[in-house]
Amino acid sequence: MRFVSTRGNSPRVSASEAILQGLAPDGGLYVPEYFPYIPIENFAHVTSYPELAYEVLAPFFVGDILEPELAEICAEAFNFASPLHWYNEKESVLELFWGPTAAFKDFGARFLAIAMQRLLQKKRQKLTILVATSGDTGGAVAAAFYKREGINVKVLFPQGKVSQRQEKQLTCWGENIEAYAVEGVFDDCQSMVKQAFMDLALVREYGLSSANSINLGRLLPQMVYAFYASLEVMTRTGKEPVVIIPSGNVGNSCGSYWARIIGAPIKNIVLALNANRTLLDYITTGKYEKRASIATLANAMDVGDPSNMERLIHLFGNHDEFTSEVSAYSVSDETIRTTIAEVWDKHSYVICPHTATGEHVRKLLHSFDPTVVYATAHPAKFDTIVEPVIGQEVPIPPQLATLLDKPSQSIAIKADYKELF
Ligand SMILES: *Cc1c(COP(=O)(O)O)cnc(C)c1O
Repeated sequence: MRFVSTRGNSPRVSASEAILQGLAPDGGLYVPEYFPYIPIENFAHVTSYPELAYEVLAPFFVGDILEPELAEICAEAFNFASPLHWYNEKESVLELFWGPTAAFKDFGARFLAIAMQRLLQKKRQKLTILVATSGDTGGAVAAAFYKREGINVKVLFPQGKVSQRQEKQLTCWGENIEAYAVEGVFDDCQSMVKQAFMDLALVREYGLSSANSINLGRLLPQMVYAFYASLEVMTRTGKEPVVIIPSGNVGNSCGSYWARIIGAPIKNIVLALNANRTLLDYITTGKYEKRASIATLANAMDVGDPSNMERLIHLFGNHDEFTSEVSAYSVSDETIRTTIAEVWDKHSYVICPHTATGEHVRKLLHSFDPTVVYATAHPAKFDTIVEPVIGQEVPIPPQLATLLDKPSQSIAIKADYKELF
């Protein structure tokens, strides 16, 4: 199996090469050269989450140097599951928040970190990962790369602009993880990372690399739970579900579209957006125009220029095809709040602000088919938003409690990339 660039001007590479490179040399994103098909009978013998992951991912690693180790990587990466919580016979929530930092990004970040570490050991190389974060990404990446030999991580976050619990998840590590509190906003952090990557002397000296969702190694594992959820729904209801995905950079949804193409029994995929509606505008106008991001309650979806749009547009080929396959709704902060309250009243179930966008879309759809909303983060991460709405405390899950108990350490710097080295 080989991977090609969305821009069509880079050599074909293996999965491992794509994982180490991040971005393709022509500036595009790596996508599979073709999509294999996995008949659902292949899952009949599967008894665990890592086995399911192996079945889904194996075709993408045929001929790769990690092929012989893929089962081991899956067992190490997916040491937590993604259970479905059923409200009733038709409606369920896919809980993607049982990993170390209580958001779905743990699935991709852990797989990427384990694959990278093994590749670097083979090549006897070292790497420094730079990651700018507005919230969840940095925590998931820090947790996944913590204590991995040969890899240093520099996490950049805007000082005072992330929630207290999010900051804790960035600053509680130490060892090979350095957290930088940047005097500025998220865009400053992002441009410092970009400038560092353009400083070729620095790139060579440190072996700089990135771990954001443009990396193929984060995207592929996000297909696994799309299979898990749809197979479970099929078993329970005999019908294919409509899957609703709270989206920002559309990496999570891209993984599910890929899963559907290779055989996950999903009837339809619908995206839930917050007030950042760049994708919706593309659907309406046929022109892709990036926007400045708008701050919302669902802050991990505050993206004005979704980096994986390039993969989705490449996947569907043209605007007509895109609009026939992709539908999306934009949900306001006010509706996020009322939806958190509604779901609590109706189902005694607490959801995070991101998941609330998905729940609102479920309501709009009035689907006759079973519906699954991806719960992208644990509500306890957003206690200051959720608790006033439901009028009670959200219990902290054990994995989050462990992190919150650790001491914090960060380095305060000006918004200048040279201060990172
Ligand atoms: C990152 C994130 C999203 C958005 O996912 P994308 O892959 O960027 O579309 C949604 N919810 C939460 C909690 C997140 O951390």
